Amino acid sequence: MSSSDNRPIAFLDLAAQQKRMEPALRQRLDAVLAHCRFVMGPEVAELEGRLAAWCGARECVGVSSGTDALQIVMMAEGIGRGDAVFLPAFTYTATAEVPLVLGATPVFVDVDPKTFQIDPAHLRSRIQAVRAAGKLRPRAIVGVDLFGQPAPWPELRAIAAEEDLFLMADCAQSFGAELAGKALGREAVATTLSFFPSKPLGGYGDGGAILTDDPERAALYRSLRTHGEGTSRYEVLRTGMNGRLDTLQAAVLLAKLDSFKEELARRESIASQYDAGLGAFVQVPARVANSASAWAIYAILLASTAERDTLQARLKDKGVPSAIYYPLPLHKQPAYRDHHDGTALPVSEDLARRILALPIHPELTNQDIARVIAAVTG
Ligand SMILES: *Cc1c(COP(=O)(O)O)cnc(C)c1O
Repeated sequence: MSSSDNRPIAFLDLAAQQKRMEPALRQRLDAVLAHCRFVMGPEVAELEGRLAAWCGARECVGVSSGTDALQIVMMAEGIGRGDAVFLPAFTYTATAEVPLVLGATPVFVDVDPKTFQIDPAHLRSRIQAVRAAGKLRPRAIVGVDLFGQPAPWPELRAIAAEEDLFLMADCAQSFGAELAGKALGREAVATTLSFFPSKPLGGYGDGGAILTDDPERAALYRSLRTHGEGTSRYEVLRTGMNGRLDTLQAAVLLAKLDSFKEELARRESIASQYDAGLGAFVQVPARVANSASAWAIYAILLASTAERDTLQARLKDKGVPSAIYYPLPLHKQPAYRDHHDGTALPVSEDLARRILALPIHPELTNQDIARVIAAVTG
């Protein structure tokens, strides 16, 4: 064994990525430092155009974070007090936080035990239950592409149409993924993205975007991101927020987009190597049919919490980092549990007890991947 065999592997290696992209990054950042238009500079519109073109969407609105993207979309629909917003219990906190901030109520839906995506059958029963209880008005469904794989979009669209609900897509983890050969980004009326540094396409700070094919909604999102402004800057048409994307973040993202296709291919190759090396030992992620994942997260399932925790400790000893997404489903979180109606969400609870995420980022070498596999199976 050479001494490099115990060198710690990074869960996320932004320094190595930066080194690889340095010339493109410097050129983009220098351009911003030269023109000094730090708020709504030309890079913002350029990035919006590139993101819209990537997905084939008509409109893209750059915003300050994935969370603010969710908030602007919900504000534009007037979602608030008395409204029920249906979303998976097994996701990042922001998806549930935003309806609460706006005075609405998140209604937690369980997920599929194999793909970890929202369960359409359970969603239907949750909508019926809320209608029957008669306290909240069903308004919206937030589909989340968990870990970078697509949510069951055809089913979610059918349910939204039947139930007359607004459908939005939280694609914070899935920009770059595909369904039926098409880039995700047009599966719902509005799609939100996050450029938090750890996402597959990540900036050097907070950032986000909203995609839509509806020009009227896009105009509303643009107004809301700048304090509800009208056609002139000091005309305030509605209550908005300061939700703009920084020019510097847009510049970083433009540089990163140049090699994003290759990064996605590398993530897929790592996932395939993990599948092949680990599939006989642990439950590897089930692939959503007819799709390509952005592989934000590669999560395995162990037989029990004890096995998961033992494995995590062993990996740590061997210099292999791992992480738990998510250790607690949202309906059990101290901040949200009082808003939950008590419905059992057994799959979300079970996943939280047994899941473990392995490193998956484009800077991993094949030797790193072999070490991760050996550490898990050894
Ligand atoms: C990261 C994330 C968000 C929030 O994005 P920020 O840019 O961090 O505000 C929302 N939803 C999901 C599913 C996420 O993973």
